[in-house]
Amino acid sequence: MNILVLNVGSATVKFQVVVTDAERMANDGDTKLLRGQIERIGGESVITFRHADGTTRRLTAALRDMRAAVDWLVGHVTSPESGSGLSARADIHAVGHRVVHGGEQFRSSVLIDAAVLQGIEDNVELAPLHNPHNLRGIEATRQALGAGVPQVAVFDTAFHHTLPEHAYLYAVPYPLYRRHKIRRYGFHGTSHRSIAYRFRKITARERNDVRIITLHLGNGCSACAIQGGVSIDTSMGFTPLEGLVMGTRSGDLDPALLDYIAAKEGLSLSQVEAMLNSQSGLLGISGLTNDMRDLLAEANELQDRRARLAIEIFCYRARKYIGAYLAALGGADAVVFAGGIGENSAEIRARICAGLEWAGLHVDAQTNGALVGGREGCFSAEGSTLEAWVVPTDEELLIARDTFRVVSGGMQVGTRKNPT
Ligand code: ADP
Repeated sequence: MNILVLNVGSATVKFQVVVTDAERMANDGDTKLLRGQIERIGGESVITFRHADGTTRRLTAALRDMRAAVDWLVGHVTSPESGSGLSARADIHAVGHRVVHGGEQFRSSVLIDAAVLQGIEDNVELAPLHNPHNLRGIEATRQALGAGVPQVAVFDTAFHHTLPEHAYLYAVPYPLYRRHKIRRYGFHGTSHRSIAYRFRKITARERNDVRIITLHLGNGCSACAIQGGVSIDTSMGFTPLEGLVMGTRSGDLDPALLDYIAAKEGLSLSQVEAMLNSQSGLLGISGLTNDMRDLLAEANELQDRRARLAIEIFCYRARKYIGAYLAALGGADAVVFAGGIGENSAEIRARICAGLEWAGLHVDAQTNGALVGGREGCFSAEGSTLEAWVVPTDEELLIARDTFRVVSGGMQVGTRKNPT
């Protein structure tokens, strides 16, 4: 089955075309035909393609809105010049969408119909910056491919539906949960699930034997405690602002600061929230950049004090979460790194793991240094009782596989848990 995977943002679409079916899934033989992204939708858009052979290609096109962008994309990936091998719109058999917020009702991936659209709409107030764009992407796809092509929603929150009450409830008056659905939802679920699944495959474990802490460290960062293959706690909360230090997000802080900052700086509460989301984290501390690669260069080559501080705070917070999740899990078998930082920066991995020898984690510096650019493997020293791994996340592949499962009838709402 040829599946178009879409991750639709406000002015961007990330896409991938994947060929998968039951046999390919069983043998890890899925084929990725093409991937890329469209940026700056609404103006002169830039489209970047990454082909299966590693080559990239850039195009520009005037795409006035999401509908035009998805229509252009569908037309292009099914044209001979795309090199995808698809030659007609009918060659796209199904579409899988990353949808950020599934609230409490969506516990696994689902075929999109009128009721599901309404459900995603109902969660708009929980994710006002994301769900509306996801809905626009679904509508644009229907316009481009027709109602006959099945579309599947894969929710970022779904993997965390297994969190127990004691992990998802905040210690605020209980009626707030009932009245306004205020609780921890967690995000990056597709990524944590993808990492856990791959870890289980590489280490030949049964799903029930997966007891690990996954760290997705990209622009957004989150940690997840996984026991028996399911999420039992995660660092992002009601929104993706809570938890680890991120590129531009503060992560955990004292909520009393909102009012205090607002008063001191003459800002509204929503302006303070915007500051915590987009001017904080690595960018806020360093005053330089949200990009870890640039920050490491500033710290190591130019000895910039605040760049160093930002990195130190980032690593310290991640290490604290590992400690907390070791306690939540009663010990774990491995800490698993993924995301742009987790997959590429041996230095950050080493600094996060430093001081965890008490927990049985000893880093093998040489192996750690070699695990970059999409390589997977274990980098803890022989004899470590808590292992350290790099397992690159592949959210698009997981979305494609879920799409196949749902379309072929193997997964329905509420009847089956998301497999790791
Ligand atoms: P997103 O969350 O937007 O998908 P990514 O997972 O691509 O982002 O992660 C982006 C982050 O990964 C950036 O901070 C970037 O600097 C960092 N990164 C990528 N390569 C390296 C590297 N070699 N060393 C350190 N950080 C890196």
